[in-house]
Amino acid sequence: MSEVVYITVEPSIQLHGAPTQPYWIHPQLIDSIDPVKGRQFRVSDHIPKGTCLLVDRPYAAIPVVDEPATNENLTCSYPACNRRVALGTERFSCPNACIDDVAWCGTTCRDLDQIRHAFECTWLKRYSKPIRSKRGEYEFGMLWLIIRLLATRQVEVQNPSASNGSKPFPPVSKHGWDGINMLCGSVETWSHDRVRNWSTLAKKYLQNSTILPHGLSTDRILHLICQEEANSFGLYPRETGVFPIPTPFVDRGEQFAAAVYPTAAIANHSCLPNLIHKADDQGRMVFTASRDINKGEECCISYFDLTQYTDLTTRRQHLKNSFRFTCKCERCVSEEPVEETSPWNTIPMMDME
Ligand SMILES: [Zn+2]
Ligand SMILES: [Zn+2]
Ligand SMILES: [Zn+2]
Repeated sequence: MSEVVYITVEPSIQLHGAPTQPYWIHPQLIDSIDPVKGRQFRVSDHIPKGTCLLVDRPYAAIPVVDEPATNENLTCSYPACNRRVALGTERFSCPNACIDDVAWCGTTCRDLDQIRHAFECTWLKRYSKPIRSKRGEYEFGMLWLIIRLLATRQVEVQNPSASNGSKPFPPVSKHGWDGINMLCGSVETWSHDRVRNWSTLAKKYLQNSTILPHGLSTDRILHLICQEEANSFGLYPRETGVFPIPTPFVDRGEQFAAAVYPTAAIANHSCLPNLIHKADDQGRMVFTASRDINKGEECCISYFDLTQYTDLTTRRQHLKNSFRFTCKCERCVSEEPVEETSPWNTIPMMDME
């Protein structure tokens, strides 16, 4: 049996004094708007390497595991907990026996999560099997994450002081459902085929109904799918964005959950990121400076595992396919082949009049 090897991050990068609040943002991390790139993070002062810059609790998360009943990496369904429910310890499953992927680490979490889970339970019981068999695991996960976004919203609407079903968030406007509304991902940025497919799924499985009383229009749900697809994070056991790629070569491991974070979603991508990111043991996304960051510099994460796509062509291809943009980060630009000076370039364009 192979032993799990964790990346040995330099001690200065390891989280020190990570705040224990569900949500925490470094006072010098600023959410700003760039005329070309849109929303982004910048720092308003010099930030030393190793500084923790953001801790963001998911608005919604789902486990992504095979054989959940026997999987070590299943996480507690209560959004404020999200801890791994280890095998061997007692797991508390749904009294209504909806699906095996739903479990709590204890009765406290199960009881506190009752209202939120009630929102998804009937839907899961009715639709999980047909969706999984007809549409596959990816689309099931996507729809379930949408349902969980709606479930958290429902809890928030019913009890405005209890976002995410537990303690109130600090008064940060970008959090809660307002933060979800602000996420990028307009329908126009996706291919027609994808949008048509999501539109079919939204009409078939996510309409406002007695099973799913969310009160939102089908267009809003379609937009929500676009937002979720553009902004959700995969959760992995090890850091994403460690650069230079460490030797021995260690990837970030196998995905065990997916989640939507209203604030962490603001970060743009770079193939030479100055932040590393990883979810902690409660599913909170933590951003840490992987080097000194200069005042005014943009803070970026890597959207993919840097050990997986190493050369310019495969990185750009992957980003184009999965994230719909051509990467112009400093690393990509510096690796662009120097264009040969062809004689054609020097011939003036013919006048076509
Ligand atoms: Zn729990
Ligand atoms: Zn249930
Ligand atoms: Zn790049």
